[in-house]
Amino acid sequence: MPEGDAIFRTARTLNRALAGREVVRFESAFPALTRVHDDRPITGRTVESVTAAGKHVLMRFSALRHAQGAPSEQRESRGGSLVLRTHMRMNGSWHIYRPGERWRRSRRDMRVLVATSEYEAVGFNVPVAEFLDPRAEARQDDLRRMGPDLLGDSFDEDEALRRIRAHDDQEIADVLLNQRVVAGIGNIYKCETLFLCRVNPFALTATVSDETLRTLLRTARKYLQANVAKRAGGIVTYTGFQRERGEGGRHYAYGRARRPCRTCGTPIRLDTQGPHARLTYWCGTCQR
Ligand SMILES: [Zn+2]
Repeated sequence: MPEGDAIFRTARTLNRALAGREVVRFESAFPALTRVHDDRPITGRTVESVTAAGKHVLMRFSALRHAQGAPSEQRESRGGSLVLRTHMRMNGSWHIYRPGERWRRSRRDMRVLVATSEYEAVGFNVPVAEFLDPRAEARQDDLRRMGPDLLGDSFDEDEALRRIRAHDDQEIADVLLNQRVVAGIGNIYKCETLFLCRVNPFALTATVSDETLRTLLRTARKYLQANVAKRAGGIVTYTGFQRERGEGGRHYAYGRARRPCRTCGTPIRLDTQGPHARLTYWCGTCQR
C-alpha cells in the first residue's frame, strides 16, 4: 500500500497539472462514475484543487457554470460541486500525460480519466473511486473518522495521542497503521519509525509511555515530510554511507531481513503481525 508521502506527492502533481483548468473530457470504467457524469457532466467544470487526505486523493470540481445561476435547490441536485475520492489500496496509481502521449500502462487498466486541454490524468487500477457532493463528503465514513493527518498543514499531536491511547490493548505497530488513529503511516514508516525510536513492534501500547508515543509521532512526521520534499524516488530513511542495492538499501529495518542491523549488527528479523498479517522488520536487540 502506498505510504502517505507517496499519496501526498501524487496529489501535489495532479494539482499542479490540473488546478484552475477546465475539464474537456471525462471517462471511467466504473459504471457508477459514468452515471454521475451522464447526469451531472464533469466536462465543463473547473478542477478546483487536488489534495491528499491521509491516503485518499480528493479531486474537487466546481459547480457547472450554467447551473450557477439556477435556483439553489437545482444547483445542489444537478450542477453543484463534486469531489472525486480515490484510494489506491495496493495497486492503484495516477499518471499524468500530455494529450497524445503514449501511456506507460495498458488501456485495459484505465479506471478514470480526467483531461484538460493541457494534460490527461489517468487513474490505473484504482480500486476505489466515487463522486461525492459536499453533503456526502461530510458523511463519508473513512474521511470522517480519519485520525490527524501527519502530512496535514497542522497536525494535532494531542488528538493523535488520545486516539492511540484508546487502543492500549493492541500492539503498537498495528495501532500506528490504523488510519483512524493517525493518518499517513504505511508499513515502511511503521517499521522505520519503531526502529528509530527503539520500540518493540509487539509491545502492547499500554506499556509505551506518552513521551515515547510523542517521539514516534514526531519521527514519523519528520520522515514523511522529508520524503515529500524530495523530487522523486523511493522512500529514504537511511542516508548513511553503507547503502545497499535492492529493497531496503536506504532503510534501517524495512526490507532488510537477515541483513545486519545498522546499529548493532544483529540480523534484522522479519515476522508477520496483526489480524492482516502485515510484515514487521525489526531488530531484536535494539528494539527490546
Ligand atoms: Zn540492532
